[in-house]
Amino acid sequence: MRRAILTGKGNPSGRGAPQLLALLERRRRLATARGSKKPGSGAVELPVWGLHVGLYRPGDAALWERFIRDALPREGVNVLVFEINYHYAFKSYPKVAESNPVTAEDLKRVGAACAHAGVELVPQINCLGHQSGAGRSHGLLRAFPEFDERPDIPQDAGREALYCRSYCPLHPGVHEVLFALMDELAEACQAKQFHVGMDEVFLLAEEKCPRCRGKDPAELFAGEVTALHDHLASKGLRMWMWGDRFINAAEFGTGRWSGSENGTWPAVDKVAKDILICDWHYVDAVKTPAYFIGKGFGVVASPYRVADVALAQLEMMRHLRSQSDLALGMLQTSWSGFDSFVRAYYGELDEAVERNKGAIEAAVCFKALFAALRGEG
Ligand SMILES: [Zn+2]
Repeated sequence: MRRAILTGKGNPSGRGAPQLLALLERRRRLATARGSKKPGSGAVELPVWGLHVGLYRPGDAALWERFIRDALPREGVNVLVFEINYHYAFKSYPKVAESNPVTAEDLKRVGAACAHAGVELVPQINCLGHQSGAGRSHGLLRAFPEFDERPDIPQDAGREALYCRSYCPLHPGVHEVLFALMDELAEACQAKQFHVGMDEVFLLAEEKCPRCRGKDPAELFAGEVTALHDHLASKGLRMWMWGDRFINAAEFGTGRWSGSENGTWPAVDKVAKDILICDWHYVDAVKTPAYFIGKGFGVVASPYRVADVALAQLEMMRHLRSQSDLALGMLQTSWSGFDSFVRAYYGELDEAVERNKGAIEAAVCFKALFAALRGEG
């Protein structure tokens, strides 16, 4: 592993990666030249300065557009991962769309704002897991309940019954639908890269599923990663995904959320190395970026709401960058919805309201992380 970190050898991800990095570097320089201070001297530069935002209910495209044009160049953001899921007015399968979805015209405006700000727009649909809230299915399984890995769990089930649903990766019809949705969203965003989520998959290889019963979770997980990867690669898109199911929780002490206790982690050695891993840890700067780099993956560290954790991850990534080009950078996450994050960023949310807490903490963490990226921390 050490040799791989030092030399980058054994990394088949080289094809396309230098061009990608050059593009990101140009975007970063453009962004920093447009309003923020130059990066501090002496610090190792990372090519990816990313922000993740989500669309979990109908939102305000005009608000996003203003934020992208105003704040992202000032902060130095050069990648915006936009988790849209099924909140898009799909033409291929309209019945999958959630209510009041974002439209192609909205995404055109967002895309134009990103282009103006020197930001690459990376759309996201959560694949495999996160197909529901507690019990109630999101768009895909609502439209195609036959894709559900556990259709026996009622729609009004609470958190005690399940965390969230998965689709069955072995259902013969699921990929035809999913790939059409991904293609449509990628085209609407004019994307070169696509984030497929795949975090926190707990329902997998279920005994109640006639196709998956008795199968190895790592084989099933790797098979789905590869199916998604190969489809995106056939369209010229690089795949991004969350890294938690590839991490042995027992080895790294992560617990069952940001690491795997359900047998999926051996899949890490069975998938393409040109997948970009978003390595999320929110309470500790776990040393898993070095693990992913040692396996040959490009990696970004992904904090959420604790600035000290984000800054420790940044320090770790800069250290790794001095040894390997696979240490790509940082991706600040937010889990309150794009609108709330923007309002928190501008100080418009009431701190006394409990439900605003996550957005405010993410915005504070984001500002501290990006000040440090710019060399101001
Ligand atoms: Zn199944």
